[in-house]
Amino acid sequence: MIRPEHIQELAATIQLDVVAHRRHLHMHPELSFHEHKTAAYVSEFLKKAGISCSGGIAGTGVVGIIEGTNPGKKVVALRADMDALPIHELGSAPYKSQNPGVMHACGHDAHTASLLGAATILNRLRDQFEGTVKLIFQPAEEKLPGGASMMIQEGVLKNPTPDCIFGQHVMPHIPAGKVGFRSGTYMASTDELYLKVIGKGGHGAMPHMNIDPVLISSHLIIALQQVVSRNANPTVPSVLSFGKVIADGATNVIPDYVLIEGTFRTLSESWRSSAHDRMTTLAHQLVESMGGRLEFEIRKGYPVLVNDSELTGKARTRAVEYLGPENVTDLDIWMAAEDFAYYTHETKACFYRLGTRNESKGITSSVHTPTFDIEEDALQIGCGLMAWLTICELTE
Ligand code: MN
Repeated sequence: MIRPEHIQELAATIQLDVVAHRRHLHMHPELSFHEHKTAAYVSEFLKKAGISCSGGIAGTGVVGIIEGTNPGKKVVALRADMDALPIHELGSAPYKSQNPGVMHACGHDAHTASLLGAATILNRLRDQFEGTVKLIFQPAEEKLPGGASMMIQEGVLKNPTPDCIFGQHVMPHIPAGKVGFRSGTYMASTDELYLKVIGKGGHGAMPHMNIDPVLISSHLIIALQQVVSRNANPTVPSVLSFGKVIADGATNVIPDYVLIEGTFRTLSESWRSSAHDRMTTLAHQLVESMGGRLEFEIRKGYPVLVNDSELTGKARTRAVEYLGPENVTDLDIWMAAEDFAYYTHETKACFYRLGTRNESKGITSSVHTPTFDIEEDALQIGCGLMAWLTICELTE
C-alpha cells in the first residue's frame, strides 16, 4: 500500500523541477486558444517521461494517459488549464513574463506545472496501482466558450471515460501549506448581458419631441435589480452588476440610444434560466411602456460548478491524511465562474483550492492583478496532493 509519506518524498524530490516548469510557463504566457508553445512544452515533457499523449484537442489541448496494471478498472482524470490573461505584469521577479501585455495572473502556470509533477509521480508508481490516469491540459479557461466545453465536445471524456475528475486552483487568500474544499455548489454560473435601449434623440431643451433613452435606461437599471432582490429565493445567491453604460450625447443633446453591459451570476441552474426570462420580460415591457425599443442579448457563459459530495468528502479526508487537519480548510461559495464547471455536469468532480499566500514575502495580490504571484513552496503540495488523491481513488 502506498503511504502519504511515500508521495510526499517523491514530491520533495521533484519540487525543483516543478518550480522550473512553473517559471518557464510564467515567463512565456500565452492567451486563451493560443497556447501553442505551452502545449508543445507539455507534450514534449510527457513524451520524454514515457507518457503517451495526444495534442490538438480543441486547438491546443493535450491529453496524456498513464496506465496502471489493470487499465480498465477505473479511470481518474486530472485537469489543468494552460492559458494566461491580457495583463501587463508588474514587479521584478526573475521569472517575470517576457511576453509584454500577457501574464499568468490566475495561476494557470502553477496548475500546469503541478499536473506535470503529479504525472511524474504517478508514472513512477504505475506498477503499484490498477486503473488509468487521464491527464487533461486544457486551453482557454479565461475565454468563452471555454476550453473545457470544447474539449468535452471533442470527446475528452470518452475513450476512456473517467469515473471522476479533479481540478486544482491556486487561492491567494489561503496561506501556502493549506488547501480548501467545498462539497456541492461552489462557483457561480456567469452570463453576459448586452442591452441597447433605443429612443429618439434630439435637443435637450425639447424633451417632449424626443424619446429619452437615458431616462429609460436609468429606470431599467434600477428595475432589473428587482429580479435579484424580489424574485430570487434569498437562499440562492444572485449577482447582477452593470459595469458599462454608454449614453453618448452631450449636455444639451439627448442621444438616440444607450448601450448597457453587465453580468448575471447565480448558484442554481433552474433559477438561472427563470431569471433570464424574468429579466427579458421586465426589460422589454418597461422600455416599451416608456416609448422606447429594446434589443437585449443574454450571452450564456459557464454553468454552476457543483462538487460531487461523496468524491469531495473523500478527497477532504485524504487531504487531512496527507497534510494534517490543521492544513485543510472549508471554502465559502465564490461568485466567480470557472469552466471546470462543465466537467462537473458530466462526471463526478472535485475542484479544490491550493493555498499560495505568503504574507512575509508580500505574496498577497489577488488573481487577475498585475502583481499576482504565488509562494512556490505550495507547488510541492500542488503536485503531491493531486497524485495522492488519484492513488487513493484508484486503490480504494
Ligand atoms: Mn483561473
